[in-house]
Amino acid sequence: MSTLFQNYARRPVHIVNGQGTIVTDDQGKEYLDFTSGIAVVSLGHAHPAIVEALKQQSEKLWHISNLFASPEQEQLAAALVTDTPFGQAFFCNSGAEANEAAIKLARRHTKKNIIITFEQSFHGRTFGAMSATGQDKVRQGFGPLLETFRTIPYNDKQQLEAAIDEDVAAIMLEAIQGEGGVNQLDPDVAQAITDICQEKGILLIIDEVQTGISRTGTRYAYEQTNLQPDIITLAKGLGGGFPIGAMLGTKALAESFGPGTHGTTFGGNPLAVAVAQAVINIVFEDEFLQQVQRTSDYLIDKLQATLPQDQFAIRGEGLLLGIVCQDEVAPIIQQAEAAGLLLVQAGTHVIRLLPPLTVTNEEIDKAIAILASILLDEK
Ligand code: PLP
Repeated sequence: MSTLFQNYARRPVHIVNGQGTIVTDDQGKEYLDFTSGIAVVSLGHAHPAIVEALKQQSEKLWHISNLFASPEQEQLAAALVTDTPFGQAFFCNSGAEANEAAIKLARRHTKKNIIITFEQSFHGRTFGAMSATGQDKVRQGFGPLLETFRTIPYNDKQQLEAAIDEDVAAIMLEAIQGEGGVNQLDPDVAQAITDICQEKGILLIIDEVQTGISRTGTRYAYEQTNLQPDIITLAKGLGGGFPIGAMLGTKALAESFGPGTHGTTFGGNPLAVAVAQAVINIVFEDEFLQQVQRTSDYLIDKLQATLPQDQFAIRGEGLLLGIVCQDEVAPIIQQAEAAGLLLVQAGTHVIRLLPPLTVTNEEIDKAIAILASILLDEK
């Protein structure tokens, strides 16, 4: 029997090496990795720039804690907030932690405690983030949950308006729900959220843990919407595989997180910050973002040309795409793996495509050939 808690339904493949989009298992079999470790390995596996950043930092200083000044955190924070509404950053170690920070900041700043969240959302597994998450399967068996979240349907303006009262501190959402099925926010609802937040002084928290750091073809997904966030949360792609999370907030929120209010031992650790800085230096470049958009267009065009549109809908932005299938996708994902393509699902009926942002058109062609052989064969 395994010595590990069986809280993950692990696939039996043991990956031992990764270079770019290709990973290799312990039997020497190669796979195209269209999961990026669930939207994490943004520059592909073992990108030389981040390997070098980690090597150099590992010879200087691994850890010193947030008891001391950190010009490196300052520099990374400045890079993350440039040309955004944000003025402040807080570093932590994961997406759930970034969301905990956001929930705490919103409550402390507004002195209110209700946060509106949405069905099918995913915000993490800690108590606050889990209570915010709009999926029963995530929360089952852990009750009673925090009762201060009001969870409503994602694209329903009327229910949104009905849920607002004077106790609401914040609205918290993903601009595209990743885990929940690659669900996109209706622009009308986005506008209603912006209007409500402005009229009522309600904070807007956007969880960009999956969509952020250029995954959707812009630095942050909210940039493609009419949402005007006060807070965003980041993790996953920020470290390109090294654990780091972040919360960005407007200057108006700065005083609500004064000394001693919130913290973490490891957050913004020198190794994590060095790697994240190397990631940002590349993925925030205009030319890199344009390339992500071109790659996305290529992938979408190819998918649409290959898969009958009455049977398979394609949705998402950038390189966070979903193929909506009529059947459950778990067996398809298994077959793809056997054929050398790693995929991850979103909900029960959506295949999520999350290749590294550096994926080539040739790799996309190979992945689509594998997908076509499975999806078209089944019909
Ligand atoms: N928020 C979103 C949108 C996510 O997709 C995830 C993870 O999938 C999280 C939060 C939680 O992040 P982590 O697993 O790093 O705690």
